[in-house]
Amino acid sequence: MQFKELDLIEPILKALDEEKYIEPTLIQEKAIPLILKKNDVLGSAQTGTGKTAAFAIPILQHLFLDRRENNKSRKINALVITPTRELAIQIGESFTAYGKHTGLRNTVIFGGVNQKPQTNALRNGLDILVATPGRLLDLMDQGYINLKDIKYFVLDEADRMLDMGFIHDIRKIIAKLPAKRQSLFFSATMPDNIVELSRKILDNPKKVEVNPTSSTAKLIKQYIYFTNKASKPSLLLHVLKDKDIKQVLLFSRTKHGSDRIARNLKKKNVDAAAIHGDKSQNQRQRALADFKKGKLRVLVATDIAARGIDIDKLRYVINYDIPNIAETYVHRIGRSGRAGEDGIAISLCEPEENVFVRDIEKLINKKLIIMEENPFPQTDKVMNNAEKKEVEKEKQRKKREFFANRDKKKSGNSRFSKSDKKKSGFRNR
Ligand code: AMP
Repeated sequence: MQFKELDLIEPILKALDEEKYIEPTLIQEKAIPLILKKNDVLGSAQTGTGKTAAFAIPILQHLFLDRRENNKSRKINALVITPTRELAIQIGESFTAYGKHTGLRNTVIFGGVNQKPQTNALRNGLDILVATPGRLLDLMDQGYINLKDIKYFVLDEADRMLDMGFIHDIRKIIAKLPAKRQSLFFSATMPDNIVELSRKILDNPKKVEVNPTSSTAKLIKQYIYFTNKASKPSLLLHVLKDKDIKQVLLFSRTKHGSDRIARNLKKKNVDAAAIHGDKSQNQRQRALADFKKGKLRVLVATDIAARGIDIDKLRYVINYDIPNIAETYVHRIGRSGRAGEDGIAISLCEPEENVFVRDIEKLINKKLIIMEENPFPQTDKVMNNAEKKEVEKEKQRKKREFFANRDKKKSGNSRFSKSDKKKSGFRNR
């Protein structure tokens, strides 16, 4: 199918052509006609499926036609709520790209930055507002935003919103929306609490589902190296010797792990940076921008940080560890081969992770390709429980020793030793 067959107006078709979009993705093919017919939609789809365009394109079309009919002054007629700043920016960019010949304007607002540029943009007038919940409520309270003219409402990444504790904010926002509106609700997963929330927002919705498991697994070539835990840093450098890997998103389970990997790579002159929840918004933004510009070869990310970032034409994903939940693996590799391109996923597996590979292969119904040419093969055995306990004990002992030494050093380095403190009448407050 082609976009031309979806009953889209010329200004949007022209923009899609310029974006080099030829065929709609599955979610677009299913959702666009339903949204154009003014149905509420409950969409089960994750980032990477093309869901942003699936809602942005028909909303732009509605707004364009509404405006042509009543040619009034600009009012905020469409609202998109999304959990993170990164997603909000990307959604704003999508509206700008697909709507560039429509004359419609969008503004993006999110927290953690000065509100002035955002309130200035609001004063200049807009048709579409893309927002994270906290800043939206804040600016509503201050009187900069009124939702009374909203005709089209999108709640994006609903499951992630609830994970991030936004439920109260969402309820407050919904309470301010006009009852007569079209609502679209997207979530990667549909547990009970999400379905319940969707009932409060949607009116007789049509359901649209795209299954990431089968679709991602089919398109992506998936390789695995079986190795030892201690060999992973060297194996990673070996993998990166491949000049075809121009850029790669590398997943690490932990924040510390991702910092360590990025540090080690930089030491070996591989341009790398880590993004995770402990980094400031600015640091994350900079790392992402550098990666997009091609200044970074490796972007190391935790699962949470990586979800929602949009990087065009990402061919490679590396799993530095094997996730213990098979769905997480599918989400990770789904970051390569986006929107119809073929991707390559490379996983590094240590003995303790062997069992997770079986779960993954069961879920995707496919065997991962084992890399035979491997200078660091797996030779360590999987530990039994008693051995694991021993290792854990030893780790804890080392940790205690480390902190004890550090504390000793600290008190030794203090400008006031205990006796000095007493002498000088120093009091701890
Ligand atoms: P999303 O799932 O909305 O984050 O979109 C994933 C990526 O696919 C984005 O980089 C879009 O620019 C791209 N994309 C969306 N729809 C299409 C399409 N029909 N053809 C080609 N690329 C697309």
